[in-house]
Amino acid sequence: MGCPYFVLMKKVFIQTYGCQMNEADSEEMFNHLSARGAVMTDKLEEADVVLVNTCTVREHAEHKAVSFLGRLCKWKREDPSRVIIFAGCAAERLGKKLQKRYPYLDILSGAKSIDNFAHIVDESGLFSAAGSPAPVKSPVLAYATIMRGCDFACTYCIVPAVRGPVRCLPCEDILADVRRKAAAGAKEITLLGQTVNAYKDGAVTFADLLNRVGEVEGIERVRFTSPHPIYFTPDFLRAVKDNPKIARHVHLPVQSGSTKVLKEMKRGYTREIFLEKTDALHACGFNISTDIIVGFPTETEADFEQTLSLVDRAGFMAAYCFKYSPREGTPAARMTLLSQNILEERLDILLNKVRGLSDNAYLAQVGTVQAVLMETPNKGRTSGNLWVQTEKEYPIGSVINATIEKSEGTLLFAR
Ligand code: SAM
Ligand code: SF4
Repeated sequence: MGCPYFVLMKKVFIQTYGCQMNEADSEEMFNHLSARGAVMTDKLEEADVVLVNTCTVREHAEHKAVSFLGRLCKWKREDPSRVIIFAGCAAERLGKKLQKRYPYLDILSGAKSIDNFAHIVDESGLFSAAGSPAPVKSPVLAYATIMRGCDFACTYCIVPAVRGPVRCLPCEDILADVRRKAAAGAKEITLLGQTVNAYKDGAVTFADLLNRVGEVEGIERVRFTSPHPIYFTPDFLRAVKDNPKIARHVHLPVQSGSTKVLKEMKRGYTREIFLEKTDALHACGFNISTDIIVGFPTETEADFEQTLSLVDRAGFMAAYCFKYSPREGTPAARMTLLSQNILEERLDILLNKVRGLSDNAYLAQVGTVQAVLMETPNKGRTSGNLWVQTEKEYPIGSVINATIEKSEGTLLFAR
C-alpha cells in the first residue's frame, strides 16, 4: 500500500533566470513550497508545479523568461490541475499585464514580494497548509541573502524599480541562517546583495558581518557579491585583510572606463577612484572580475577607448561584457540609442581584449601553494576563485594545500 502523504506531494520544477540573488530567491521560495509538502524534480514532464523565477536586467533575459511561460501553455493544457508560478524581477515589472496575456498563469509573485511569498502561495489555495520547515540540503556551497533592493539610481538599471529600496537583514538572522547551512554541511557561504558591501545593521558593518560569518563553526570560506566600488574603504580592507577565511576574489562591476560615461550612468565614482580601489584590493591579494556595458547611449569612440585602456590597467581576472539594453522607465531609456552595428562592433573588440584575462590569472599561480576547497573528489577552487584539478582524490568539503604544477586555459593542476 502506498503512503498517502507521498501521493499528496506536489513535484516542483524550477527554472531560474539571472543572477545568484535569483538562485538564492528560488531556493527560498522552494523552501516555502517544501514546507507545504512539495518536492523538487528536474523533469518538467513529471512536475505538478513550475516555478519560473525571472530576470529583467536586460531585454534578452526578460524575453527568455516570457517565452518559456508561453511554451508552458501546452504543458498546462495537458493537465489543467498543474500550477504555474511566475516570480521575480520580470514578474514585478510586467505585473498584471502577464496574467491577462497568459490566463493559465496561477500565481504571480514579483521581486518585491519575496518576503510575502508564503502568504501569496497560501492565498492561492493551491497548496496545503505549511507543515514543518524544509530540511536544508547539504551542499558544500551555500548562499545567504543579506540585503534586498538597491538605493542607487544608475541611469541604465531597472533593479531599484523592481526590487525596491535597500532592506538589510538583521545580523543575528543572517548568522542563524549560516549556522543552519553550516550544520547541514556548507563550507563556503556567499553573501548576496545588489550593493552587498553597503550592508549595515546598527553598529554592525559589512566587514564585521564577514568576520562573524567566518567564525561560524564549519565555515571555511566566505564570499560575497556584488559589491559597489565606493564602499571599499581603507577601514574595510584593514578589517578583513588578515582573515584567511574571506576569499581573495571580488566581482567588482566597473561598467565603463570613461569618467564622463560613469557620471552619466550615475555610478558615483570616476575612472581614477575605481583604479585606486582595484590597486588597494590587489595589494590585499584579491583577484578582481568585473562587468562592463558597451554602447551606453552617450558613449563616444573616445569613451570606449577609455574602457579598453581601463581593462589594460586594472588587472582584472575576468570581465563579463554586455551590450547596453534600454529598460523602460529608466533615465537612459529616454536617450537616443547608438546603432546596433556600433554596439556589436564594440562588444566584439572588447570581447577580444578580455578573452585572455583568465588564462593569465591562472598561469600566474603555477609554482604557488593554494588552499583549495574541494567541491568534487578531485576538483575545487582557490580562495582567489580559480579552478584546480587534483591527481589524488580528497573528501568533498575538505580544504587542501595544493602545489600548483601547471595551468591549461582556465584550469590549474595539482597533485
Ligand atoms: N549591483 C551591481 C552593480 O552595482 O554593479 C550590478 C547588478 S546588475 C543586476 C548586473 C549587471 O547587469 C550590471 O553589472 C551591468 O553590467 C548589467 N546591466 C544592468 N543593467 C543593464 C542594461 N540596461 N544593459 C546592459 N547591461 C546591464
Ligand atoms: Fe543597478 Fe546600480 Fe543598483 Fe547595481 S548599484 S543594482 S547597477 S542601480
